Parts: sequence; C-alpha cells; structure tokens
Amino acid sequence: MAIEKLLIANRGEIALRIHRACHEMGIKTVAVHSTADADAMHVRLADEAICIGPPAAKDSYLNVAAIISAAEISGADAIHPGYGFLSENAKFAEIVEAHGIAFVGPKPEHIRIMGDKVEAKRTAGALGLPLVPGSDGAIETFEEAAPIAAKIGYPVIIKAASGGGGRGMKVCESEDQLETLMQQAGSEAKAAFGDATVYLEKYLGNPRHIEFQIFGDGNGNAIHLGERDCSLQRRHQKVLEEAPSPVITAAERERMGGIVSKAMADMGYRGAGTIEFLYEDGEFYFIEMNTRLQVEHPVTEMITGLDLVREQIRIAEGRPLSVEQKDLEFHGHAIECRINAEDPRTFAPSPGTVTRYHVPGGMHVRVDSGLYQGYKVPPYYDSMIGKLIVYGRTREGAIMRLKRALQEYVIEGMKTTIPLHQALLEDPDFLNGDYTIKWLEEWLERDGQP
Ligand code: ADP
Repeated sequence: MAIEKLLIANRGEIALRIHRACHEMGIKTVAVHSTADADAMHVRLADEAICIGPPAAKDSYLNVAAIISAAEISGADAIHPGYGFLSENAKFAEIVEAHGIAFVGPKPEHIRIMGDKVEAKRTAGALGLPLVPGSDGAIETFEEAAPIAAKIGYPVIIKAASGGGGRGMKVCESEDQLETLMQQAGSEAKAAFGDATVYLEKYLGNPRHIEFQIFGDGNGNAIHLGERDCSLQRRHQKVLEEAPSPVITAAERERMGGIVSKAMADMGYRGAGTIEFLYEDGEFYFIEMNTRLQVEHPVTEMITGLDLVREQIRIAEGRPLSVEQKDLEFHGHAIECRINAEDPRTFAPSPGTVTRYHVPGGMHVRVDSGLYQGYKVPPYYDSMIGKLIVYGRTREGAIMRLKRALQEYVIEGMKTTIPLHQALLEDPDFLNGDYTIKWLEEWLERDGQP
C-alpha cells in the first residue's frame, strides 16, 4: 500500500523532520497541534494543519480521540508518532490500525512487551541478548529480594518495571538498606507510573551507554545500523551523542550487530528500534529496547547515508528493507548536540521569544530545529529546541567542525545549552573519547562549568 497522506502526531523538530521525509517521498502531510503551537514551523510547512486541543499535552498531543478524528477528517492513510507522546503506547497503535490507518511503528504487541521492562528483559534473554545479572522478573518482598541481591552482589539497582526517563531507580549498597529502598522505589513507581512492580539488577559501577539501531521488515528480516554512544548524560538524559562509539571496534560492532539483528529477525520485529546496552570491561548488558525513532537518529543517518524516517515509512507501506546488511557501510564520524532552552549552568528552563537567529551551515553540518526569528518557545513542553549534527571523516574532524558550527550558531532571546557544549568540546577526556555515564555529572560538579 502506498501512503499518500501522513498525519504527524508530534511537535517540534521531530514533526519537521518527519514532514521533510514525507515531502521528499511525495507524501502529503497533516500537522496536528495544540493552541500553543499554532505558529510552529512544522504547522506552517505541512499541507494541512488541524488544532487538536489546548496546550497541556494530555489534552492535545496525548489526546487519542482528537488525533484519530483529525486523521479521519483529513483522510490521512498513515500516522507517524515521532518520539515521546504516544510513540510507545501500544493501545494507540492498536486503535490506529483498527481504523484502517497505517501505524508508522512496530507491531502493537512488540511495543507492549518492550514497554514492560521485566517482560522486555525476559524476551531479550530468550532472544539471546546478554542481560545485566538480576532477579528473574518482578520482586515482591524483602524476603524474596535479599537472597537474590546477595547472589548478584552489592551494589544492586532497584528498578520500576514501568519506569522510563531514568525515573523510578534506586541504588542499594547493602542489605540493611534493601527493604526501605524497595518500599521507596515501589511507592515512587506507583505514583509516577501507576504500577508498583520493581525488579533487581546488578549496579554497574562505571559503564558506557551504547545502543544499536535496528530495522525489521516485520516478516523475519532485520538489519543493524551500528551503534551510538550516548554515555554523556545528565540525570539519565542524553546530552551529546556520537556514532560510532570511540571504544567499539569494527569486529565488536559486527559481532554485537549480528546478535541484535538476529534477535529482531527472530522476533519478527517491524520498523525502527533501538536496543540499549550498558557496556563495561568489554561486555554488553541489555537494559531496554525503545520501539520508536530516537532523538539521536541523525548520527546514524550521517554514517550510513540512510534516511531512517524514509525507511520507517517504506516498512509501514509493507515494502522490504531498502538495504541488505552486506551492502551497508559505515563511513566517518558524526556527533549530535542537543540544544535546550535552559540555563547552561543551572539547567533551569528558559523559554522565550527568539529575537535573533542565525543557523550554522557549510559542509556536513545539519540543524534539525523548528526555531525561526520571532518564534516564541512555549513553556509547556520539553526544553529541547534543536539539534546540531555534524559529520567528519574522522572523530577529530567532526569535533573541529562542531566547534566551528557551535560558534556560528546564534540564538538570542533565551538561554541555551550551546555554551555547555562548547566547554565540553575543550575537555581532554572528551577529546580522548574517555568518558562513561557518570562522567558528565562529575565534570559539571568539578570544573566543567561553562
Ligand atoms: P529508563 O527507561 O528510565 O531510561 P534505563 O533502564 O534505560 O531506564 O536506564 C537509564 C539509565 O540508568 C542508563 O542509561 C544508566 O545510566 C542507568 N542504569 C540503568 N541500569 C543500570 C545498572 N544496572 N547499573 C548502572 N546504571 C544503570
């Protein structure tokens, strides 16, 4: 089935990103937006735009009935959920498909499995992915937990089965803290996710976060597009991502890539997905799978030359993967900086009106952002206002280009995290690729203040 009109159930830079892929494929777009986003760039560029509610996300971007109605009214034959919002909501995917509309994403049952971390881990283990040692499933009581934790060895991490965004996790150093921390984690998880289920994992002291991009055609074929290193995080939120990882060799990439793509083929996975691992002392440990497009997907696009949104849409049309693993080559190095409307020291949100705007350009520089001069950043949503992505033949080349591009990037009218990235790019550890998931927070406390 050829998609002719696609509804973009998202906002900001990702809505614009999806719009662009559609227009390059000759597909008409329908933007849906809250009243706060009437002037957004993707709304201006889309072929049609439909207001679906007031600013609060629960009344607009999470309003399933309004989004389905918008698709029906506009005659859209597909919906792309982007990331966040409804992208990992299995029920939404089911409803979309029940209306005869193509969902640009995985099969609903796979979204459901991977959305429950206990279930996800069990499935990943059965598919042959290496796991973090831990409890085999949910843990109810201290009596049940204590012998398991002793066997894994302290410190352990207590995680919420329905957790996300780094929330609902507690590190436990010894058995005398276990009961209290389990209760705390359970009640926090209940409050945040409506589900008190927790499980235990070995706490890895100083790992890197390395994730593999995969694509499946839903019929038992799957490929991997290599890894991304997303170890630079603050409060479990990614700040800067690069591909390839400075520490992964071609042989390791091929070996792990083979394992993940075989797992996805066996599962019959459809569409784009990311398999996240912690990596320590040469070992990979599965932590979770994201059943959607990721914020950091452009770094993979740059080193593979593949348009990931186009690939997603082709799969939703029931077409085969556009490349085979053997034809896929990795070239050069790409880095992405997430630019947030935040104070670069305190990280306090800083929404405002863009009074002056200049976007960097030149060879191998890409800016994914809905900003323009006069645009008012609404205070209701995520603070990320853009992404700057560069490519270089080598990591050093990419870093030099990134420094140059950051220097050119002018956003006035609000504080942004551009100075943070500039300071980061001067640090010897970063330049050596010598960092783990703990590094950025320690650096911020130490001497890394921009
Ligand atoms: P979420 O879905 O909330 O993002 P993840 O399971 O993906 O949760 O974990 C988020 C982050 O928490 C990881 O990137 C890592 O920084 C940290 N983390 C998770 N599990 C462990 C572990 N077993 N040991 C050490 N750190 C961990």
